Amino acid sequence: MREIVSDSRSCTGCSACSQVCPMGAVAMAANDEGFLYPLIDEDKCSDCGLCIRTCPVNRALGVAGAPMGTHKGADSAGNVKGDGSKKKAFACYAKDDDIRDKSSSGGIFSQLAEKTLEKNGVVFGAGFDSDFRVRHSHIEGIDDLDMLRRSKYVQSDMEDTFRDVNKFLREGRHVLFCGTPCQTAGLSSYLGGDHERLLICDLACYGVPSPKVWSMYLEYLENKYASKVKSVSFRNKSGGWKNNRMDIAFENGDRYLVETKKELYFMGFSKNIFNRTSCFDCKFRVWNSSADITLADFWGIERMGGIIEDDNKGVSLTIIHSPKGEEALSEIADNVRISPCDLDEAVKYNPRLVSSAAEPAGRKAFFADMAAGYDFDRLRKKYMDNTSMKYKMKCMLKRMLGRG
Ligand SMILES: Cc1cc2nc3c(=O)[nH]c(=O)nc-3n(C[C@H](O)[C@H](O)[C@H](O)COP(=O)(O)OP(=O)(O)OC[C@H]3O[C@@H](n4cnc5c(N)ncnc54)[C@H](O)[C@@H]3O)c2cc1C
Repeated sequence: MREIVSDSRSCTGCSACSQVCPMGAVAMAANDEGFLYPLIDEDKCSDCGLCIRTCPVNRALGVAGAPMGTHKGADSAGNVKGDGSKKKAFACYAKDDDIRDKSSSGGIFSQLAEKTLEKNGVVFGAGFDSDFRVRHSHIEGIDDLDMLRRSKYVQSDMEDTFRDVNKFLREGRHVLFCGTPCQTAGLSSYLGGDHERLLICDLACYGVPSPKVWSMYLEYLENKYASKVKSVSFRNKSGGWKNNRMDIAFENGDRYLVETKKELYFMGFSKNIFNRTSCFDCKFRVWNSSADITLADFWGIERMGGIIEDDNKGVSLTIIHSPKGEEALSEIADNVRISPCDLDEAVKYNPRLVSSAAEPAGRKAFFADMAAGYDFDRLRKKYMDNTSMKYKMKCMLKRMLGRG
């Protein structure tokens, strides 16, 4: 089987290769870990190489035939040197407390989305389907906005959204596309060149967890609560933005509301144990963003010298990469509190903006156990649950052996 991405561990699953193929020869299929990878149908493939040239990872790596760079402000060789002094950054939050409460950080995505919809535009982002799988889709009305709000800490399936973006742009519609940096790099690469009516927004990204592990987790909870899941929020702010809670409601009226620090799925996520391999050497962090705007939680805001009121309701670090991004922020300025900040200082408190986490030693074993048939309960005891006796003993043993 031929490979599209020169280094398969770096494939992000953005699906640009699949969506760009005129022969329909590239399908996205889940591997054993549950992540989507391209699969070429040799019978349909005409060997034109478009998939290889469009792959944003190949472009970032300078693989022969792939034009370099997808990011704003790249030089002719596609290089951008990390330098916060060349980008504008702001601490921002929506003035409307309700929007802020419903959003992960300061609700800036919602404000950008509202503005796009006001212009009869289309907004793309990640939502849940009826089985709580995470998928990218689009909305055209404000009543549907809530389904795209808030972070879902699972890799989303891009479906055919790049093609849909292209279609709407050709119809002359305004489009806001929001996704992880690798997804927006895929979109930029797929479209090629800038589009006046397209605003691209990416996110600071810790890494993307496996959709399969997420499904196993929901199944585990459904068994435990003897009921189907009715709603999920990874970012319930009832205990304050900095004391984030996982909030899962069940059809029988039960509710699982647990602070992130003590929450099982988040324990695994924070250890990077079930994140995609490409996340450990991400090519698209903030200095290489292909977006007009990057949004992040403004962690460390309390150490930024009071640049904006920190009332624990959520502040977005908003990084501007292009004049279009700057214009978009000025368009929502009436509804948003905005205060300029020093980006180099801000990234100190949000490491994933600029650097990838190291692959944890236990990741391979985790997926090997999963392939061997471990259910979620066994996996959590062995790899995730900081509070389980087995986990504590393992840590103690490691410390005794001088490896912890
Ligand atoms: C997997 C993941 C990891 C993140 N890691 C960090 C981090 O390390 N540090 C940090 O500061 N911020 C991180 N964020 C971003 C942060 O959680 C907020 O999304 C950001 O602050 C914007 O908040 P908001 O209030 O403006 O908008 P929100 O209303 O929260 O909207 C966020 C946008 O993200 C999109 N989105 C949600 N889930 C996904 C997904 N799975 N894939 C792609 N797009 C999605 C939504 O469609 C929406 O457009 C991460 C987000 C995700 C999805």
